[in-house]
Amino acid sequence: MKRIGVLTSGGDAPGMNAAIRAVVRKAIYHDMEVFGIYNGYQGLMEGKIEQLDVGSVGDIIQRGGTMLYSARSEEFKTDEGQNKGIEQLKKFGIEGLIVIGGDGSFQGAAKLTAKGFPCIGIPGTIDNDIAGTDYTIGFDTALNTIIEAVDKIRDTATSHERTYVIEVMGRDAGDLALWAGLANGAESVLIPEKDEPFENVVDRLKRGSERGKKHSIIILAEGVGSGFDYGKKIEAATSFETRVTVLGHIQRGGRPTGADRVLASRLAGKAVDLLLEGQGGRMVGIQNNQLVHHDIIEALKQTHNLDMSLYQLMSEISI
Ligand code: ATP
Repeated sequence: MKRIGVLTSGGDAPGMNAAIRAVVRKAIYHDMEVFGIYNGYQGLMEGKIEQLDVGSVGDIIQRGGTMLYSARSEEFKTDEGQNKGIEQLKKFGIEGLIVIGGDGSFQGAAKLTAKGFPCIGIPGTIDNDIAGTDYTIGFDTALNTIIEAVDKIRDTATSHERTYVIEVMGRDAGDLALWAGLANGAESVLIPEKDEPFENVVDRLKRGSERGKKHSIIILAEGVGSGFDYGKKIEAATSFETRVTVLGHIQRGGRPTGADRVLASRLAGKAVDLLLEGQGGRMVGIQNNQLVHHDIIEALKQTHNLDMSLYQLMSEISI
């Protein structure tokens, strides 16, 4: 394979730039030409395609977001949309494509591969909700953003002796909430994967108050429901002054952490290796700190499993 393309799609995640950089540099090292496709699959259909050289990915490793921009496209979910994309790839003489994104983006990559165009998926989403990899690019940075925010909220929670419900992202996955709960020393974590009886949360708050605790932090994953609704229920049940913070899109931005930059570079390197071998229809991942790759369609059929031993530990620590 002599000419490949790279695009980012779906929700952006810190570390995507590090992945783009590694794809471009490693491919050039192996005498391939690399084309950047702007605005995800939408830009692919529109032919927003430009050759990238070593210098064009300079000074981006430390930046959040994605220099190739991202987009969502309904049209690309159709046969005609995918055919338009393939026409553009052919027009530019591109023989293989690397797609950095979440499971929706992987669906698109699987469709192109099924139409005979080899694609490799790199998991990039803060949600950590992709099967076949222990971590996705952006998860660690988002986690650290949450940790910093919750540390700050804790200061004011203590000063005013308040209970805080903090809603974090993750779509249907509880990874960000659970990891943040452990790292921030929260009293309770509410995640879609585990039904926590409301009475347990209330009992824990009351026990803490009796012990003289000055504040309480509850971290709620967005997949469970609204933080505001939960805050109202908590205040009604405990009469503790309760405040709610929805962290929102702050979790998607910012400088990627070292862990995300290294993960992005490693996954990108592996993706280029696979295209060099002429493989397509694969997703790359990291499992037990080893680089792995799986059939993209098989991986899409699996659900990502949250490490429930962390939940158990959380329950044993937040007594
Ligand atoms: P995140 O998890 O961060 O939201 P994502 O990749 O899952 O990222 P989606 O919006 O689900 O984000 O998907 C991104 C794009 O991938 C869609 O806008 C669409 O163009 C394409 N896509 C999604 N599903 C399919 C599908 N079934 N067939 C073809 N293309 C698809």
